[in-house]
Amino acid sequence: MSRVAKALDAHGHDLLLVTPSADLRYLTGYQALPLERLTCLAVNSSGQAWLIVPKLEQPAAVAAGVLEQGIDVLAWNETENPYEILARAVGHVKNPVVNNSMWVEKAHHLQAAFGTTVSLADNILADIRMVKTQQEIKALHEAGAAIDEVHNQMGKWLRPGRTEREVGRDIAEAIIAAGHDTVDFVIVASGPNGASPHHEVSDRIIHAGEPIVVDIGGTMPSGYCSDSTRMYACGEVEQEYVQMYGVLQRAQAEAVAFARPGVTCESVDAIARDILAQHNMDEFFIHRTGHGIGLETHEEPYIVSGNTRVLENGHAFSIEPGFYIPGRFGARIEDIVTCWDGEVTSANNTTHDLVIL
Ligand code: ZN
Ligand code: ZN
Repeated sequence: MSRVAKALDAHGHDLLLVTPSADLRYLTGYQALPLERLTCLAVNSSGQAWLIVPKLEQPAAVAAGVLEQGIDVLAWNETENPYEILARAVGHVKNPVVNNSMWVEKAHHLQAAFGTTVSLADNILADIRMVKTQQEIKALHEAGAAIDEVHNQMGKWLRPGRTEREVGRDIAEAIIAAGHDTVDFVIVASGPNGASPHHEVSDRIIHAGEPIVVDIGGTMPSGYCSDSTRMYACGEVEQEYVQMYGVLQRAQAEAVAFARPGVTCESVDAIARDILAQHNMDEFFIHRTGHGIGLETHEEPYIVSGNTRVLENGHAFSIEPGFYIPGRFGARIEDIVTCWDGEVTSANNTTHDLVIL
């Protein structure tokens, strides 16, 4: 909260408004659902904070420890106007910002109540959340170990004759059994479906000899997310695929080996992309090399060409190059890595080989 106050001041803003989101959970520990009734944290540039909550949500907010953090909790009754109550408590402000994922409806009503336009908090919150504490890094490694546990059991579920959806259901159960609170996504993309990077699952029946992309992730009780992709096949796959997979495996490994505090995000992307380009495979690598991860699966820093941000201790992100050939097959290998003590450590440690089941 004090980092927010300082950042607001440095950027010439006098108030931050945050509705239920990962931003709210990050700042207060309170995990509230974004609903039609207004729940909103306000932090001014002196570090003073208010939380307006519907009366029926007050016990949940208090249980999350907001009072202990010195936040002034304002509970509103069903027939009151929460926007006016919040604006009155905070007082006059000139240049407020709102969290990027705030619903437009809420931003609109806040503008009316405060009598001024709001702008996006944008990098004010992203810059703070991007640099993780040692405890957050530990939480990401715990999430990584949990999803590794699921990948290590894939042989139980992936079999010719089963559909992607059936396999996906088993994986989802295992994600929870491995310690996650929620299943965030399950991608089981067999054969040609692997050419669509975010395929999820379908009723397609898995056949022997086709590569299968399995990209899975969930959220741990800590709030921190897992995300790991490995490649499988039931029986031997065609030689051309094996060769291309070998190039991808090297591209991913070299990008992980290169990444460290002091190098730019875009240079990590370039390492993976250049290796694929040497084998004329770069045209099939249709996405960035990675994304930051924390309380959300996708957050800053993005490992992408044009991002000149320099990696530093506390950064955590994925390294996940792939290739996608429409109508035929696809592949991706993904690890979450974290920067600490000048080094990069992988949170995912299952084999990077194409696993033949
Ligand atoms: Zn990812
Ligand atoms: Zn993924």
